[in-house]
Amino acid sequence: MIVTLSETAAILASAQRVVITAHENPDGDAIGSSLGLMHMLRSLGKEACVLLDDDIPAIFSVLPGYDIIRRPDEKEPVEADLLVVLDTSTDRTGCTLAAVKAEHLLNIDHHQTNDNSAEYTYVAPGRAATAEIIYDLTRELPVKLTKDMAVCIYTGLATDSGFFRFSNTTSHTMRAAAEMLDHGVTPNVISEALEQKPYQTVRDIGEAIEMAELFADGHAAGIFLDEATTARMKSTESFIGMIRVIEGVDIAVVMKAKEKELCRVSMRSKGIDVSKIALQFGGGGHTRAAGCTLLMPFEDAKRTICEAISKAIWENK
Ligand code: 5GP
Ligand code: MN
Repeated sequence: MIVTLSETAAILASAQRVVITAHENPDGDAIGSSLGLMHMLRSLGKEACVLLDDDIPAIFSVLPGYDIIRRPDEKEPVEADLLVVLDTSTDRTGCTLAAVKAEHLLNIDHHQTNDNSAEYTYVAPGRAATAEIIYDLTRELPVKLTKDMAVCIYTGLATDSGFFRFSNTTSHTMRAAAEMLDHGVTPNVISEALEQKPYQTVRDIGEAIEMAELFADGHAAGIFLDEATTARMKSTESFIGMIRVIEGVDIAVVMKAKEKELCRVSMRSKGIDVSKIALQFGGGGHTRAAGCTLLMPFEDAKRTICEAISKAIWENK
């Protein structure tokens, strides 16, 4: 059931014990919006915790509350009044749904592909980040912004908007960020912490750029990592940004073979709706950033995604 922002605030206000979760492979928005909401609810005197069913990259240790994020455990289910799923539909939350026995389920998201499968869903595709919705909620609830909340919300805003450069950045995004600065955020401290990369990751970026291929007559660029390469490279997040900038490229793709018949796909575009391509394979995302999982061997998956991307490009010419 779709709810409004004020109904979302009312659902949060009426719960005492709240568990917050977000998508697997959590990014700055998933973690920032989760911890931001946790600090907010705690300031209102509620019991709130964050459970994420994945490893949390160490760069996010700059966020207050990083140390208290736990993994859900199906064998020891947690009881709660409300489970809040952030920054995804309820499907990509690992075992969290099974590990939390909650009376109510609320989903807050900014993805246009949200499947509205939760008991209550609030989706705002015009917001650059789920953290921007958390900011909106600070104005709906009797919350006094603290530095802890501000650092977490700012991180979500900054990471999902490419530090206020992507097309999803609005004046509202920047006003929200400005308010976070008024509450103690120092932008360079956060960006320097998030930019840190191990030496080996920088070398891996070099190797990945060497592997980049152009297709669809130069309108698309891809990096395709087979299972052995994927296993060897610890962090691949920055690869897509490296090929997105190639002149003439409309769509960039990074595909990683994670298992023999399981490949993860990330796509970025300069305007063509890549969420439609991702949806064809059960994935989702935004117009300019989307992803999916292909349950097929590396070569088949590579051919399948390249064909789908090429088709989308020709249809948009
Ligand atoms: P990324 O390429 O950074 O993993 O994801 C780009 C965007 O697409 C993010 O907003 C992410 O949440 C979304 N996305 C990535 N993979 C999937 C997927 O398998 N399913 C859905 N629904 N969304 C995805
Ligand atoms: Mn997000």
